[in-house]
Amino acid sequence: MLIFAKPFTQQEAIPDAGIQQAIEILKHGRLHRYNVAAGEVSEVSLLEQEYASWQGSRYCIATASGGQAIQLGLCVCGVEAGDKVLANAYTLAPVPGAIHSIGAIPVLVEIDADYHIDLSHLDEMARRSGAKTLLLSHMRGHIADMDRLMSIARSYDIKVVEDCAHTMGAKWQGRRSGNFGDVAAFSTQTYKHMNSGEGGFLTTDDDEMAARAIIHSGSYMLYERHGTLPPDDVFDKIKLETANFSCRMDNLRATIIRSQMPHLEENIERWNRLYDTLFAAFEAMSGIDIPKRHQAEFYVGSSIQFRLSALTTGDIPAFLERCAKRGVELKWFGADQPAAFTSRYDSWRYIKNLPDLPATKAALEKTVDMRIPLTFDTDDCKVIAEIIADEVAPFITGV
Ligand SMILES: *Cc1c(COP(=O)(O)O)cnc(C)c1O
Repeated sequence: MLIFAKPFTQQEAIPDAGIQQAIEILKHGRLHRYNVAAGEVSEVSLLEQEYASWQGSRYCIATASGGQAIQLGLCVCGVEAGDKVLANAYTLAPVPGAIHSIGAIPVLVEIDADYHIDLSHLDEMARRSGAKTLLLSHMRGHIADMDRLMSIARSYDIKVVEDCAHTMGAKWQGRRSGNFGDVAAFSTQTYKHMNSGEGGFLTTDDDEMAARAIIHSGSYMLYERHGTLPPDDVFDKIKLETANFSCRMDNLRATIIRSQMPHLEENIERWNRLYDTLFAAFEAMSGIDIPKRHQAEFYVGSSIQFRLSALTTGDIPAFLERCAKRGVELKWFGADQPAAFTSRYDSWRYIKNLPDLPATKAALEKTVDMRIPLTFDTDDCKVIAEIIADEVAPFITGV
């Protein structure tokens, strides 16, 4: 029996340049981003400059995690305790968690069968809730029609925070995800597109939002040491009214990320070669259903989602177990109980008046998810697809 032996959670090593530079930092001991020798620019500030330039945004503020970047993003959009925040219901737990952490209230929006936020439902919920902010997760790299989405947001005067944890480097109509809304959040947690263990960025083009994010991130009055810096008079306006949330990035993580920046474009191509191999195999497989991607979307295929259409939901747990025994690790977004990183919206019980979202449930009911680490190659993808095809085969009737 064909068995796959590589772990789905193994990322690549940190580039040698990053390891060398990390050792230098450990030797001189200046790990804090504001602890600089005379004339020195910190690793975090250099990273902020480099990421802003790569992203095509005016400002970048490095943070301790992607979740904290989201939280700062909501704050700089003016969200306060008691405010409603629209969010697509298909996302990861830190997203509603970021809304809840500032005392705001998530208003969950349905997704469509292709895993994007349902734009008609967004329009309806914007009108019904009166919310002035949308926290949009480009969940698992699926980017909605951003032209239509932004025009809905504009028509209600809604600010948009883009959660780009799965879309660093992805584009819609040639424009980078993160450059549509007012602010964007990125994650450099181990399983995302760059790996510093934990970490994140907030990007924006807005002077005042950037200044607020810098002070919120915990700059004290050392904000002038930031890599991308709004004008002084903007700080003068907001610095005493903006709370310090202490969620900075440190130089060790920054240097680890900096060493990965030169490989990012090439890694995106590598992800897409793996993704496209798997996509072609799943598309040709009976018993499996995989939504087509938009023409306008340039994705980064660091994970893949498909439906087990030949199986009943009752069949799925045993199927997943059989795949796991053969080394293929799949997550099920339709499960009633949250497991590991994967949870469905109805398990976030702290949300008041949790709605019933039948379209989201239907879209996720038979959806499984698979990570695609860069430690795999295209031959590995073929082995994985063969194992899945083998395990689905008994469920295909009428053959
Ligand atoms: C990982 C992730 C986050 C949070 O990032 P952390 O860096 O782990 O805090 C937010 N949204 C989505 C969709 C994610 O996958």
